[in-house]
Amino acid sequence: MRVGYGWDSHEFKSGIPLRIGGLEIPHPKGLGGHSDGDVLLHAITDALLGAIAGPDIGTLFSPSDSRWKGADSSVFLAEALERVTSAGFQIGNVDSTLILAAPKIGPQADRIRERVAELLNIPADRVGIKAKTPEGMGTENAAIAHAVVLLEERPTGSRHTKSTRKATRR
Ligand SMILES: [Zn+2]
Repeated sequence: MRVGYGWDSHEFKSGIPLRIGGLEIPHPKGLGGHSDGDVLLHAITDALLGAIAGPDIGTLFSPSDSRWKGADSSVFLAEALERVTSAGFQIGNVDSTLILAAPKIGPQADRIRERVAELLNIPADRVGIKAKTPEGMGTENAAIAHAVVLLEERPTGSRHTKSTRKATRR
């Protein structure tokens, strides 16, 4: 088994869409910076990469590389997932906490959970989405995400493993 941890933050900016967990959330401000600013997917991507001692998201997808400007962050998550699979692991579960003053995540949490589970190809009851407001932290204009993942060795008898091994032998 492996554990992975990821953390990310982005600043709110007016006039751009807010994307959290691969979904557009109705809000007058979005998250600026690297790619589409999806703070939650970035934290989960880093947690997956960290669990297999891989390079971090900024190394794989440099913010200075114009290819990733405005990019859909699910691309980063897919790459991390591919590396996890290649390393012989599958996701046990993912847990996360978002810290932001607005909008309220509670009413959207189930939708975000479903979307993240879909992107990770795991059941929704293996994805934790929690949210808090930044009490006393002074980070009202930022969204912060923490994520942990548990990876399990992929069972050797599974179809995916067999086909992967055959392909490697050839
Ligand atoms: Zn980020």
